Amino acid sequence: IEEKFDAIVVGAGMSGNAAAYTLASRGLKVLQLERGEYSGSKNVQGAIMYADMLEKIIPDFREDAPLERHIVEQRFWMMDDSSHTGMHYRSEDFNSDRPNRYTIVRAQFDKWFSRKVREAGATVLTETTVTELIQDAYGKVIGVRTDRRGGIVHADVVVLAEGVNGLLGTRAGLRTPPKPETVALAVKEMHFLPQEVIEARFNLRGDEGCVIEAAGTISKGMTGLAFLYTNRESVSVGIGCLVSDFAEAMESPYALLEDFKRHPSIRPLLEGSEVKEYAAHLIPEGGYRAIPELCGDGWVMVGDAAQLNNAIHREGSNLAMTSGRIAAEAIFQVKSRRDPMTKDNLILYKKMLDDSFVIKDLKKYKDMPNLLHTNSQNFFMTYPQLVSKAAQNFLHVDGTPKLDKERETTRAFVKARSRLGLIGDAFRLALAWR
Ligand code: FAD
Repeated sequence: IEEKFDAIVVGAGMSGNAAAYTLASRGLKVLQLERGEYSGSKNVQGAIMYADMLEKIIPDFREDAPLERHIVEQRFWMMDDSSHTGMHYRSEDFNSDRPNRYTIVRAQFDKWFSRKVREAGATVLTETTVTELIQDAYGKVIGVRTDRRGGIVHADVVVLAEGVNGLLGTRAGLRTPPKPETVALAVKEMHFLPQEVIEARFNLRGDEGCVIEAAGTISKGMTGLAFLYTNRESVSVGIGCLVSDFAEAMESPYALLEDFKRHPSIRPLLEGSEVKEYAAHLIPEGGYRAIPELCGDGWVMVGDAAQLNNAIHREGSNLAMTSGRIAAEAIFQVKSRRDPMTKDNLILYKKMLDDSFVIKDLKKYKDMPNLLHTNSQNFFMTYPQLVSKAAQNFLHVDGTPKLDKERETTRAFVKARSRLGLIGDAFRLALAWR
């Protein structure tokens, strides 16, 4: 590979594909490099895909994208060892002709996205690992070195869409490696079941889908979340907790997932299923405070590589697609003005991202990661147990006057956390949420 490109995109995940597609469809000469056998082969996702963000890139994606189910029902379960207390939302409005959220299987979806990137005119090379960023004497990134023979390629700008580990960016001193307390390790399995069984168990018809997200004693006091998403003929089941918590608690993610699947609320949903895929992956969860520099001379960073992930709302792919698209639009503007790809000019990407939901949302929850991490025992053990006890007490009809039941519940909360502790928790949560 000897020619020079307008842009090189490293990685063919959600952010890399969004960037490469946007750049190529605006007529720029783009090279996209992906170390996997094909786009999606290295990617793990639960997975919910947000239509609005993809529509801004490929408006008619519904015509041929491999979509599994559109989500009509969202359940959030607070769990203790034998129960769950649920909050469900289901609406017929989600059955519109332009659904907002779909479940997808990343391996298939990324392949489709990659085909669109090629059709838009980009050169896509898979099974090609970028081993190093090439910088000039002033530190400006001017290209990449790949593991192909003689594989040095030059470009005006390099889009780092290499995912959460960010080894290239780290090696080049553009960011620091993710800290154990700012990344979660998630494990996930695909459970295959006949389509009609999934529909009967989750109360679905046709393409309708359901999402269950669960927190509580299932994470054994660690900051974490479990999930179950319905695909057409499979159910994605997984759980993730902060890496630092796993290390401290000496817990294994696999054991946690086994316990979650054995939970009496989950087991009947998976009964008789055949497990065909298993994967483990990191998720950036440090939020706003963990975001590194987003651009510099000759480079921009997007998606998980830039830690753009909203752990509170479990959104990652939409932030990835949006940051990829916005970075590409900024590059296109700089290029159109015939300005050099310096930090002073590429800062336009950061400004545009600051104005988008991506940074606004992450800023809103900037204190949440630390609050959950430092109070994980209370939020993931004590409260779920108290809420379960309160619900059981309330629903168990045994002749005890209701007032006595209410007093018993209040006493249990005060005993576990003290009045001051309860007020403090509520106050800290409200402050971090605002
Ligand atoms: P990635 O998708 O990780 O892509 C990076 C790509 O770069 C990979 O293909 C990799 O092979 C390639 N690469 C890396 N280094 C190199 C190199 N040196 N040379 C060449 N190629 C390289 N988000 C949601 O919105 N909804 C969900 O339901 C959801 N569920 C999730 C469940 C799990 C278990 C996990 C782990 C994540 C989930 N996410 C979810 C988050 C979402 O998957 C990520 O935010 C999203 O994939 C980020 O996209 P990306 O393109 O930045 O990174």
